[in-house]
Amino acid sequence: MLYYSSNGKSPKVGFEEAVLQGLAPDNGLYFPASIPKLSTSFFRTIEELNPDEIAFQVAKQFVGDEIPEERLKQIVKEVLNFSIPLVKVEKDIYSLELFHGPTLAFKDIGARFMARVLRFFLEKKSKSATILVATSGDTGGAVASGFYDVEGINVVILYPSGKISMTQEKQLTTWGKNIHALEIDGTFDDCQKLVKEAFADSELKAKYGLTSANSINIARLLPQSFYYFLAYQQIKDKSKPFIVSVPSGNLGNLTAGLIAWQMGLPVNRFVVASNSNDVITKYLHTGLFESKPSVLTVANAMDVGNPSNFARVLEIFNHNYDRVKDKLIGYSFSDSEIKNCIAEVYQKTKYTLDPHGACAYMGLKKELKESETGIFLETAHPAKFSETVSESIGQSITIPDSLNAIIVKKKTAIQCMPSLDDLRGVFNKVL
Ligand SMILES: *Cc1c(COP(=O)(O)O)cnc(C)c1O
Repeated sequence: MLYYSSNGKSPKVGFEEAVLQGLAPDNGLYFPASIPKLSTSFFRTIEELNPDEIAFQVAKQFVGDEIPEERLKQIVKEVLNFSIPLVKVEKDIYSLELFHGPTLAFKDIGARFMARVLRFFLEKKSKSATILVATSGDTGGAVASGFYDVEGINVVILYPSGKISMTQEKQLTTWGKNIHALEIDGTFDDCQKLVKEAFADSELKAKYGLTSANSINIARLLPQSFYYFLAYQQIKDKSKPFIVSVPSGNLGNLTAGLIAWQMGLPVNRFVVASNSNDVITKYLHTGLFESKPSVLTVANAMDVGNPSNFARVLEIFNHNYDRVKDKLIGYSFSDSEIKNCIAEVYQKTKYTLDPHGACAYMGLKKELKESETGIFLETAHPAKFSETVSESIGQSITIPDSLNAIIVKKKTAIQCMPSLDDLRGVFNKVL
């Protein structure tokens, strides 16, 4: 499988090179040169396959022979060592719970896959690397957990000071060893810009073997398509058309869903659900894409003003807005709508949504037609956003033991200004 850059000015590379480089040399995003269709027998027999087998079939299409089959099987098995259940919330509406991994958010899946793939490629070359990643909340924790104590890999995580929850902060600042958390005096967009600048600095990139673990790295992106197939597997009545609602920020989760669709998964439409950061909603309604500074919301893992995977969404539709519009429907929701939704759904069904899942649920409710099955992605455990959620439902929620254990640990972070010079200084000191 070859990967090309969305900017079209870098040579095509194999899976290994795309993973090791993260961003292409021309600053574009790598994208598969073709998306293989899975066989009709795969879909016909999907209910008889176990999750590892499904994930392996999907992964193999993108990895080709660059990882031996046995090793790839082992990798997907380790990645999916927790359940991804499709839970009925009400008539025709199901929640795909992606939050049963170690950091209680869907990003565990991509991070765990990437860590294992990267370790394989580095081992082969006897090389080391530095993962540089910006986080708007959950990415950092998932990456830290996925890469913790992995031989030959350092991890540097940039997060916006004061703009993520206490729990999220603890999930990235309490590790030690090879995990370094940098508290940036700025917004998430500043963090993301800094990461892009660091990658564009060829000296820095070479000196530390920089690679990315944001959803821009295809090794994080592609495994996220596994669970769209796992959702389909669990739908009881497959004769009805179904739609999927994706709570969206950088659009990595959505892109993975679109890739699953291109591989033959019969998704009728995708709902692109956002919070007040409505750049993509506006684009879907008008055809005009205008990035803008992000605003703070209660669904803060989606506080993104310039979604990094937008270029990939355009690649999937060959830059044809009419085709985009046919498949994607955008809705955005305010903080008060999110909180009301969490309250109402809890009262009506006893199901506890998190603020991100609430956006997806509301988008689904608006879009779902009589004859359709609706699935929304529940991307985080509600306990990760316990303040918002308990305030909404009017009672405290149970915090899982794994979270409590992290909350009591001591934060260790390095303060840093959003400038490349400052970042360089930190690199020289800690790496
Ligand atoms: C990152 C994140 C999102 C947004 O996913 P993208 O792939 O960036 O669109 C949604 N919900 C949660 C809980 C997240 O952590």
